[in-house]
Amino acid sequence: MSAAGARAEVVTPAPVGFDVARLRHEFPILRSHVNGHPLVYLDNAATAQKPRSVVEAEADFTLLGNANVHRGVHTLSQRATQAYDDARATLARFINAPDPAELIFTAGTTASLNLVAQSHGRTVLTPGDEILLTEMEHHSNIVPWQLLAGQVGAVVRAIPVTDAGALDLAAAARLIGPRTRIVAVAHVSNVLGTVNPVAELAGLAHAAGAVVVVDGAQAVPHLPVDVQALGADFYVASGHKMYGPTGVGFLWGRRALLEAMPPWLGGGGMIQQVSFDGTTYAPVPARFEAGTPPISQAIGMAAAARWLQALPWAEVEAHERDLLDYATALVSRVPGVRVVGTAPGKVSVLSFVLDGIHPHDVGTVLDTRGVAVRASHHCAQPLMRRLKTPGTVRASFAVYNTRAEAEALAEGLHEVRKVFG
Ligand code: PMP
Repeated sequence: MSAAGARAEVVTPAPVGFDVARLRHEFPILRSHVNGHPLVYLDNAATAQKPRSVVEAEADFTLLGNANVHRGVHTLSQRATQAYDDARATLARFINAPDPAELIFTAGTTASLNLVAQSHGRTVLTPGDEILLTEMEHHSNIVPWQLLAGQVGAVVRAIPVTDAGALDLAAAARLIGPRTRIVAVAHVSNVLGTVNPVAELAGLAHAAGAVVVVDGAQAVPHLPVDVQALGADFYVASGHKMYGPTGVGFLWGRRALLEAMPPWLGGGGMIQQVSFDGTTYAPVPARFEAGTPPISQAIGMAAAARWLQALPWAEVEAHERDLLDYATALVSRVPGVRVVGTAPGKVSVLSFVLDGIHPHDVGTVLDTRGVAVRASHHCAQPLMRRLKTPGTVRASFAVYNTRAEAEALAEGLHEVRKVFG
């Protein structure tokens, strides 16, 4: 990144704890060029790139082991069923779930949240009950609850966010009351990088008799997750944000809650007996997996979990923290930059606005230099309203990003400033 030398005062060596260059070899896409420049991929919060081992796990199954699960007497189908069940067990271990049967494969975070809303929520909520969200939720953790509220006559409320982008816990304590039935919260904000105090919220919610639904989409790539330590009742995530495939995710729920939930989607695979006089349903998890599931994708997501678990976590966290601090310092030197989200302990998501320049223009100029960032409302319009901006530019760093890439981002922003004045 040649121009970086011109700002030598901020270019300091990274305290490299593990071999990022070697890790990058597992991601061929990181060696590609975009618009004549080496790709600088800083859109990891939208979707992360996949290491070879994930793609190969999916490809091996598809090329050599493909069969449908559950229904076959033939050997290939039994092997496929075993591989699918093993993937479930791997993911259960990944989040420290007590029992693999509590983990349901879904199409992703969005599908998981809709399932909880329509099955658990629709069963337990009565008119006047309250669903408590936060101002920093992704639309995936707002709209399903609004749909549910409309169906059952419940009320949706939101815990406010402070100017620094942290959750206002004192306000949460005031808002959680005897009518609160569900508290649904992002473990990590996709805009601010804030890590929310889920265990404290769970304590407050449980004392009021409410259940806690945690949207872990942005947490699983950055933090070791322990659903038991968090005190969560439901925890959901997507494969593609944790270096795994698209089209797959999971819902973990406490067994007693899942067993009390009626099916949401009906079809093959989720029944015990079907007759025109009445149908009975399979136990969990099959009850919530109607139809042919995303088999190769589940196997790929499990490979991603194994890949993540094999990383040296203390060093990964130090590396991502260093990238965030370094990028924040560089970006803050660009005239007119305001960083959005400065909560202590945040993960490596850097949102900012450039005074007088629309985020889309920033993203477009960066793209001409091969730098991929997201410039939008990030599916968090209520948060944008709270922050009084139509959108932000978001650079989100993954384990394979480097200081040189943070420098390329900052150089691109200086260029944006030159272009737009
Ligand atoms: N929640 C959060 C916090 C997210 O960042 C996202 C994806 N941007 C989602 C939910 C939705 O995930 P998916 O599109 O994979 O269902």
